[in-house]
Amino acid sequence: MVEQSEPAADPPGGRPPGVAAVARAWAKAVTGTSYLPLAQDQLEAFLGDLTVRLVTALRAEPFTVRVGYQVGSDLVAAHIASAEGLGRTIEVLDLRLLRDLDIDDPDMPDRMARLLGGIATGYTRALRDRTLDEQETIRRAALVAREQAEIALRESEARYRHRATHDPLTDLPNRSLFTQRLDDVFSTAGRTGGEGRRLGVCFVDLDGFKIVNDTLGHHIGDLLLVSVAERLRRGVGEHLVARIGGDEFVILVADTTCTDDVLKVAEATIAAIGEPVVVDGHELTVTASIGIVERTVAGTTPSEVMRAADVTLHWAKSAGKGRWALFDPVRNDHQLARYALSAAMPAALDRGEFFLDYQPLVALAGGALLGVEALVRWRHPTMGVLGPDRFISLAEDSGLIVRLGSWVLAEACREARRWLDRSAHAPFVSVNLAVRQVNDPGLVRYVTDVLADTRLPADRLQLEITESALMSTADGPVRTLRELADLGVRIAIDDFGTGYSNLSYLRSLPVQELKLAGKFVEGLRAPAGTDRTDESILLTLVTLAHTLRLTVTAEGVETAGQAERLRAIGCDAAQGWHFGRPGPADGITERLT
Ligand code: C2E
Ligand code: CA
Ligand code: CA
Repeated sequence: MVEQSEPAADPPGGRPPGVAAVARAWAKAVTGTSYLPLAQDQLEAFLGDLTVRLVTALRAEPFTVRVGYQVGSDLVAAHIASAEGLGRTIEVLDLRLLRDLDIDDPDMPDRMARLLGGIATGYTRALRDRTLDEQETIRRAALVAREQAEIALRESEARYRHRATHDPLTDLPNRSLFTQRLDDVFSTAGRTGGEGRRLGVCFVDLDGFKIVNDTLGHHIGDLLLVSVAERLRRGVGEHLVARIGGDEFVILVADTTCTDDVLKVAEATIAAIGEPVVVDGHELTVTASIGIVERTVAGTTPSEVMRAADVTLHWAKSAGKGRWALFDPVRNDHQLARYALSAAMPAALDRGEFFLDYQPLVALAGGALLGVEALVRWRHPTMGVLGPDRFISLAEDSGLIVRLGSWVLAEACREARRWLDRSAHAPFVSVNLAVRQVNDPGLVRYVTDVLADTRLPADRLQLEITESALMSTADGPVRTLRELADLGVRIAIDDFGTGYSNLSYLRSLPVQELKLAGKFVEGLRAPAGTDRTDESILLTLVTLAHTLRLTVTAEGVETAGQAERLRAIGCDAAQGWHFGRPGPADGITERLT
């Protein structure tokens, strides 16, 4: 920077005459050569000072051009800073300084020339310095601006990235970040050839969170989630915790050495979430269920791991919640097979892959064929003949049981009609009903229609309902049973003794028959004279049933010995391998002739 020098003190004896004239001419010459922040009189005063300093310098002994440099640089500092401004300055001073101040020493023209040269040099240097300075300032300003812009950009990028990868409510990593990290575990394992690399995933789901939301409102629900997130973050240490759904969280445990590593994390998580918290004045206790997968990275994919964790979470839920479950491939395969079977059933029913076997129900006294139980089977195109234990519960879960059961009922009644056409002493047909069917409002209508269509007398049809099916429903089925009984259809309680065995309850129901579960009969295998407990229980049951005017059929009778002892007890009828295995309708037809 060029400092402006102090104005020169006027020489002794005051300002020489002529200074003002020079200053005025000088001011006039430079006005308009560049932008000047000075008013005209200020400019004249300034240039007057310079004139005095120049005159003093001309007269000084020894002579030096130093003052010339300074004046040049002062001009630039005062913003008289253009090539034109310098040119006019030189011109005016050359023309007027010596003349107007009446200086005519012979040395003077030479001194004057050197002084003007000094002014030009000082002026040019100052101008160059100033330009460099300005450029430098501009460069610095540009640099600072760019840095600030970059910082702002980085900050907004980071903010944007954070927003894109985090859950806004809890600020936990979101599904996308979790997926990325999970993928990373797999891809780095592939790169480093880490064949033995293992990982663990905990799929965490709050139990009963919906109830909190529904009863206390979403605001409290949100606060609870925030508090759960905090506890998770604290509870699992360095592992990645992400929120991937409403009340679903996942923990990624990378590089496990064994299953125990993940179990510890799961235990810590359950403990952390289980601590009671006060949320907005409500003391809340939530529990969480966790599905755990822990395995080698090799041989699986991220999406398989997540599906397995999800499946396992449902195991934890159905095992009673507030606990963890560990993925079990065998159980999973079994479950998948069940899904596949369940999904294939509707089409199988349409294609006629189901068929019925019939098993005799025989009078223990005299051995007459009283009835036959219809038992459904599935001739599966690749798996062979499947028994009802493989698919009935699936059909109950999917609801297909109503359609399947309707088919069974109609088919059994058609067959029973054929037997009746052959013999007046044809057996009744006994058809199993699932809970869903009993609860189906169309059941009575359907049974009525089937009986009409097949021209089967109602007393040739028996419907078997398990005791637990009756107990598990409200009073709807009781009305249904009464309507069915009113039609003249026989009602039997199936598998009696496996549930509540509530005989007094049966009193209020229109039931004709009790089928004693096979497990009672099993006890009769022991040689006579050993343990008689089962026999006493059976005797009591049969006596009670008879008091209620129910006939009793024992199931699962496999030996002549069992049959004989059941007859001795007073049991009315029996069913079992001893009397005939379930088989095609033709077998029954043959028995009739
Ligand atoms: P359930 O009603 O108790 O049927 C008797 C089961 O015991 C039949 O098994 C039969 O084959 C078997 N069994 C018969 N005699 C003996 C014996 O002496 N010893 C032994 N150990 N077992 C014997 P299945 O055919 O496998 O039927 C199993 C269950 O499937 C049935 O038990 C019944 O609850 C259900 N079920 C069968 N058909 C239908 C149907 O059409 N609809 C519904 N809802 N359920 C059915
Ligand atoms: Ca049955
Ligand atoms: Ca049974």
